[in-house]
Amino acid sequence: MASSETGGRVFADLMRLAEVVEPGQPGWTRRVFSAEYLRSRELVWELMESAGLEVRRDPAGNLIGTLEGTDAQLPALILGSHTDTVAGGGRFDGPCGVMAAIEVVRRINERGGRPRRTIWVVDFLGEEPNDFGISCVGSRAVAGHLSPEHLQLTDRSGRTLAEALAAVGGDPDRIGEACWPEGTASAYLELHVEQGSRLEEAARGLAVVTAIAGIHRAEIRLEGRADHAGTTPMDRRSDALLAAAEVSLEVERLGRREGRGVATVGRLELEPNSPNVVAERAVLIAEYRSGDAVWLATTDDLLQEVVENAPARRGVRGSLAWLSREEPTICAEELRSVLLESAREIGEEPLELPSWAGHDAVQMAAVCPVAMLFVPSRGGRSHCPEEWTDPEQVEVGTRALVAAVTRLAV
Ligand SMILES: [Zn+2]
Repeated sequence: MASSETGGRVFADLMRLAEVVEPGQPGWTRRVFSAEYLRSRELVWELMESAGLEVRRDPAGNLIGTLEGTDAQLPALILGSHTDTVAGGGRFDGPCGVMAAIEVVRRINERGGRPRRTIWVVDFLGEEPNDFGISCVGSRAVAGHLSPEHLQLTDRSGRTLAEALAAVGGDPDRIGEACWPEGTASAYLELHVEQGSRLEEAARGLAVVTAIAGIHRAEIRLEGRADHAGTTPMDRRSDALLAAAEVSLEVERLGRREGRGVATVGRLELEPNSPNVVAERAVLIAEYRSGDAVWLATTDDLLQEVVENAPARRGVRGSLAWLSREEPTICAEELRSVLLESAREIGEEPLELPSWAGHDAVQMAAVCPVAMLFVPSRGGRSHCPEEWTDPEQVEVGTRALVAAVTRLAV
């Protein structure tokens, strides 16, 4: 049966790629600037080429495979994802989208005839965070968002991002040429594993992503007074640690509002951080995520109020500075409809979900309309060796992608 062969081929490619991992690292580790990453992309290149794609590496180190369409006037349809992993990561986050995209091209070629619209399959360089403190390196360059300042960022060994990029086949001096001029792309589709458990809990095979969560991050400073832990009565204290505890609980309450977002305090630093001194200063970082820009904006205001009021009740001064405010990426309405119809065409009734993790699609949204398809992650596990998607589930995702590309490009 052609359909099970399809899923089988994508799954087999995923397992082949998973053989190229960093020795001595846990799980399936293939970090962006490792020797194994460089080597693994020879396999990606080979798979693209044998699927009938014309392959090139751009100055940002992205691998781009082209299937020329019959109408050269039409902007290209872009399919892609990434093949790097986090340390101790899994075999599906990223590669699933690249391997499925290559399979789409195989299927089109096996059907015979060229598509009307040119199709590009892209393996974006380094989507996961790295030692240079920057994620989505390749897609950022495509969007024109990789600045000369970014290229001068250094890792712990003092190597610059520009040097690291050159070592994996990029050309930092020509980085501007990696940016796609307007009119290059008509749309970007990315298949990815959900990295959550909504699909599994609903016993569905596919989700159409509504939006990719925006992230707002604030540093909150709380200034109290250092005092002797024995001689200072309880009602004479300005305890920055307790103010931080109250602020953290308020942040949790804000995150629970309306079920439309999440909120986390993942970092807390104390001074003097001593067992017999009332804490003088606390610095914490609060972050919020939501696919809903209005919810994020309202949360900003509410957090501001919390920082003004909660510490004051303890004689502590609170102040807030925004570290970053990335707005949600909204998936294009018309592409979402195409994905919904494509899923139904293959007998699936998809969920519609926001993505709580970032993706290359966020950068691509600056270039063209974007949309994403999710396939299930067993137990919602991701960024760990247990990350798993069944071969049949990979197949369903691939077939939906084939159906969508048929609607958009053939
Ligand atoms: Zn990913």
